[in-house]
Amino acid sequence: MSKRQSLVAGNWKMNGSLESIGQLVAAISQGVSEGTEAEVLLCPPYVYVAELAGLLEKTDIRLGAQNVSHLESGAYTGEVAPSMLKDFACEYVIVGHSERRMLYSENDVRVAEKFIAVQANGMIPILCIGELLEERESNCTEEVIARQLDAVIELAGIMAFKAAVIAYEPVWAIGTGKTATPEQAQEVHEFIRLRLARHDHETAEGVRILYGGSVKADNAKQLFELADIDGGLIGGASLVADDFLTICHSVR
Ligand code: PEP
Repeated sequence: MSKRQSLVAGNWKMNGSLESIGQLVAAISQGVSEGTEAEVLLCPPYVYVAELAGLLEKTDIRLGAQNVSHLESGAYTGEVAPSMLKDFACEYVIVGHSERRMLYSENDVRVAEKFIAVQANGMIPILCIGELLEERESNCTEEVIARQLDAVIELAGIMAFKAAVIAYEPVWAIGTGKTATPEQAQEVHEFIRLRLARHDHETAEGVRILYGGSVKADNAKQLFELADIDGGLIGGASLVADDFLTICHSVR
């Protein structure tokens, strides 16, 4: 039986308004207060981080961000420093989401730098890795995952994974309604753990690996039951309180 506590993280992406996030948080915090085995995390757009810090203050729900600069301060128009997120009680920061990698050209090294900057500011990075459809179809999934993971191990060191979370998100499953089968997901999660174990067995056993990619209320349970899946990173379904709560209640 795993000793890793499951984590269910909502990634709201660029959605919501001041009014709608208030309603969403009220409904989610009510449901979470009725009891869940999972650690629950919400990652709003930057501008709502301060608002959420207030709304979540008296709840058990954690606060995170969807992105961060790898730099500490200076003339970087439009960027947000890790220390600024820390100021508003963020505990987690997503780094290397496939939308950042693809739409904003973040490469493996930049992602590793962000991972390090998050930890240097006392927060926990959620490192997203995952293959494109054509990479899966040409049997390159493991090669891609290994490359994305090794870039961070090389720059941050294996011990950095003692205070990190990994999210395996096959890019072809994000926002498409196509979920990896439980077998496909478990296979990659096990590969990730074995890759880390080549450096340090204990770290590999302790790190939480989330699955992300069209997790919904009706498929979460069968994914979360698997040996190496420690919860989920949830996009679309995290915007609907009932669906997100059902997912939170689906953890083993
Ligand atoms: C995500 O953006 O990380 C994600 C998994 O999105 P969705 O759940 O909508 O596929």
